[in-house]
Amino acid sequence: MRERIKVLFLSPEAVPFAKTGGLADVAGSLPQALNRLDLDIRLVLPLYTMVRHSKIKMHLLFNDVKVPLGGTLLSVRVWEAQTPGEVPVYFIEREDMFDRPHLYGTALGDYHDNLERFTVYSHGALRIAEELSFTPDVIHCNDWQSGLVPALLAGPYSTSPFVGKARTIFTIHNLGYQGIFPAEKLYLTGLTRETCFHPEGLEFWGKISLLKAGIVYADSITTVSSTYAKEIQTDNYGMGMEGILHHRRSSLTGILNGADYHVWNPADDSNLAVPYSLKKIAGKRRCKEALIKEMHLDRSLTTQPLLAMISRLDTQKGLDLLIKILDDILSLNAGLVILGTGEASIQEALKTTAINNPGRVALTVGFDEPLAHRIIAGADMLLIPSRYEPCGLTQMYALKYGTIPVVRATGGLDDTITPFNPQTGKGNGFKFTAYTPKALLRTLQKAIELFHTTGAWRKLRTNGMKEDFSWDRSAHSYLELYNTTMGKT
Ligand code: ADP
Repeated sequence: MRERIKVLFLSPEAVPFAKTGGLADVAGSLPQALNRLDLDIRLVLPLYTMVRHSKIKMHLLFNDVKVPLGGTLLSVRVWEAQTPGEVPVYFIEREDMFDRPHLYGTALGDYHDNLERFTVYSHGALRIAEELSFTPDVIHCNDWQSGLVPALLAGPYSTSPFVGKARTIFTIHNLGYQGIFPAEKLYLTGLTRETCFHPEGLEFWGKISLLKAGIVYADSITTVSSTYAKEIQTDNYGMGMEGILHHRRSSLTGILNGADYHVWNPADDSNLAVPYSLKKIAGKRRCKEALIKEMHLDRSLTTQPLLAMISRLDTQKGLDLLIKILDDILSLNAGLVILGTGEASIQEALKTTAINNPGRVALTVGFDEPLAHRIIAGADMLLIPSRYEPCGLTQMYALKYGTIPVVRATGGLDDTITPFNPQTGKGNGFKFTAYTPKALLRTLQKAIELFHTTGAWRKLRTNGMKEDFSWDRSAHSYLELYNTTMGKT
């Protein structure tokens, strides 16, 4: 009998335990989809405050696992739980490091000891495998927080009887977060200057980059869409990593993320005022009315286009374009609902806009998952004018909820959205290319015009609701990649 492929999956966040963005959705869904393909896959997460205080059932697996940090050995506890899809999850408990209100930092900046925190997390994951005598075929690392792991496997763990032979995959979910730390802290990681602190290693302009460590030392690198895989090898999108990414291009592939339709399905979504589907589409109007009421917007908007954005408030997301054309949009009788949290300056600019346009613009600052569902269901269009977007998930959710995505042609947005052509009836959204307010406005004008053309709008909405971006296809691509990576010598 063929042995099951064993995978240790590292992500600093995963639904339903801890989430700041799309990575959590991916790490929540992909291991479960791979589990359904009969892989023995296990997830490792830090034990954050929100996990500790949640009602998740877990038991103590190890009371005292020793993890190196610099010259000392720290003791961590390890708890075990299961995801809803029965993937084992190991939580690394270290109160002084992970028992904090946020995952990586506050609005004022990153936590000062993130290198220490994610060094302990990275070593901790490898040490758990050793303690369990688990011999993974593949260790799948995600983003800078586990970028150290491929370097550790090339160095201090290369002779470990448990993890030493594992192949590594490093997935880049966002090149904008590079895990940069002062060179003086290298000794904390367990790596030496001689072996890795140089431009062909994890040095990045005189500093440590844990993202670069992942890119340089992993056996295979993936990112979350084919277009982003190409974009990041260019000056415009490479954020200084384009050279090394181009150098490693034969090991770099793009695998599009999927949508978890167990979580994002309007026919079975307890967050909504009324569930709905393509066959029972009337519920969507009821959801729109409920959202207008909840957000204290003008009742007149029930027959006018209601636009929405659900996003981290980050310069990446293109909110500057939106702010510049807001008056023009409102003059087209549209309304706008925004849910987001992030940079203080963007938050302030949006607050001013909302205060100046009561009844037409509603802003909710915060992270609110149920509200995100109600907005996606209640809005007519979802705006995603990103400067860059590795994959983007909200456009996939919007499609399933019959909410039309208006996106910039970049990364995964480009790979998932095809402009609607009223002549052929083909397409699932609206798309523009130039990163300018004018290009966004022109596209929105077209979208709003189509909104008032009932038959065409219905066709467009139907096309979107019929799309299938479920995880299963992507999980097969990862399985294929695991197999080829395991064959690498
Ligand atoms: P990114 O990972 O860059 O933040 P994605 O589109 O890949 O962008 O994923 C964002 C995820 O986070 C989606 O599930 C989206 O619904 C969710 N999200 C973003 N901001 C908020 C918020 N303020 N409240 C609730 N959910 C949010």
